Amino acid sequence: MNRLDPALTPLYELVLQRNPGETEFHQAVLEVMDSLGAVVRKHPDYADARVIARLCEPERQIIFRVPWVDDKGRIEIHRGFRVEFNSALGPYKGGIRFHPSVLLGTVKFLGFEQIFKNALTGLPIGGAKGGSDFDPKGRSDMEIMRFCQSFMTELYRHIGEYTDVPAGDIGVGGREIGYLFGQYKRITNRYESAVLTGKGIGWGGSQVRREATGYGLVYFVEEMLKTKGGSFDGQRVVVSGSGNVATYAIEKVHQLGGTVVACSDSSGYVVDENGIDLDLLKEIKEVRRGRISEYAQQRAATFVGDGSIWDVPCKVALPCATQNEMDEAAALTLIRNGCIAVGEGANMPVVPEAVKALRDAGVLFAPGKAANAGGVATSALEMQQNASRDSWSFEFTEGRLAEIMKGIHERCASTAEEYDVPGNYVLGANAAAFVQVADAMIAQGVI
Ligand code: NDP
Repeated sequence: MNRLDPALTPLYELVLQRNPGETEFHQAVLEVMDSLGAVVRKHPDYADARVIARLCEPERQIIFRVPWVDDKGRIEIHRGFRVEFNSALGPYKGGIRFHPSVLLGTVKFLGFEQIFKNALTGLPIGGAKGGSDFDPKGRSDMEIMRFCQSFMTELYRHIGEYTDVPAGDIGVGGREIGYLFGQYKRITNRYESAVLTGKGIGWGGSQVRREATGYGLVYFVEEMLKTKGGSFDGQRVVVSGSGNVATYAIEKVHQLGGTVVACSDSSGYVVDENGIDLDLLKEIKEVRRGRISEYAQQRAATFVGDGSIWDVPCKVALPCATQNEMDEAAALTLIRNGCIAVGEGANMPVVPEAVKALRDAGVLFAPGKAANAGGVATSALEMQQNASRDSWSFEFTEGRLAEIMKGIHERCASTAEEYDVPGNYVLGANAAAFVQVADAMIAQGVI
């Protein structure tokens, strides 16, 4: 990471002071500010308008109690969050995460990233994120439903088609969105389809939303590979995670002629030299909600319970599990093994030192806020379909997604060139998104 521009250092120190202990939020802010030195030197107006300082302060932060009753009749209490970060470009938009590691700082880091990601899509959506420290693992369907109902019983008063539109994230998939939507409808007596995205196809959901983040990631990385005359065809690929993003990244890599040889969950990883069998993976993860080790019991594959998935040699690495999952040592191993490209499917999965090592070694690097924007972009397409009471075909929607991802790649690449750092997608993404949001904020007054 470069040294922060002196004009931005006091601002970053203020963020540290006002948000103590929120290390992931600090990391996300620093990553963006690191790119903005060049922007404020070129356009000092942004500093005068104090727009970066305003951007670092969420417009609204909501923290609430989520009491519910488990299958044994015991009362459990969790904490719910919604951070409505920025609405300069449109209604707040961003997912909800259910995971025991969720703290206010986690939601703030994700909400902050979401502002820039949403801007990059070119669609009219602001940035937000939500979640709870509830762990859905091992819970029955009825427990999940009761938890979601209690969560929505507070959240409903803060959201709406024109206000804030949540979606899924880690631990929140189609099942949870269904329970959340059902409770919203019940409380408000409104069939307000566009209040949540990621809905089922038969009741207001969009084709390709489930696949969108993984597919979009692979489209973005394919564009990046093309700049060096390459493609996924014939490449050996490693994908971490085995959830929504990972599964559909694997599917698209296989469609484009690559072979994914390893994937993981929080218990370990599997290596299948013949290529991950997606039908089996979906059966284990989407239907049985099982563990990744079950994959190795049913295929000629190896399960590794401890160690790093990044030890598996590959040409392209796609971290699709969670934040800070690829450290500097892992990046150095990838480089030694001849990796040529890394694309972030998860949010902030690669630590800053690892990003630097990859970039210094000439490895193509796609930051999550650009590369995984396909999910939220397709969510915005779901909102469009809901607003016009329409539903588009799979082919048409996938075409729109592919176009959007190409557009994001082009925007990042051309902005990087404008700032004389060709191929630096981190700077390209941050600068392009910042300028769009900042201009809107300035035009709207001191907000
Ligand atoms: P899922 O819950 O569907 O899957 C998450 C996967 O990552 C699981 O395999 C999970 O394993 C693994 N994982 C989660 N936490 C950890 C951890 N602490 N250590 C190791 N493995 C972990 O989530 P998604 O696929 O939806 O999200 C994955 C990432 O992509 C997140 O960073 C999310 O913010 C980001 N993202 C998601 C979008 C979407 O549309 N869903 C859009 C843009 C970004 P296990 O089951 O064992 O916990």
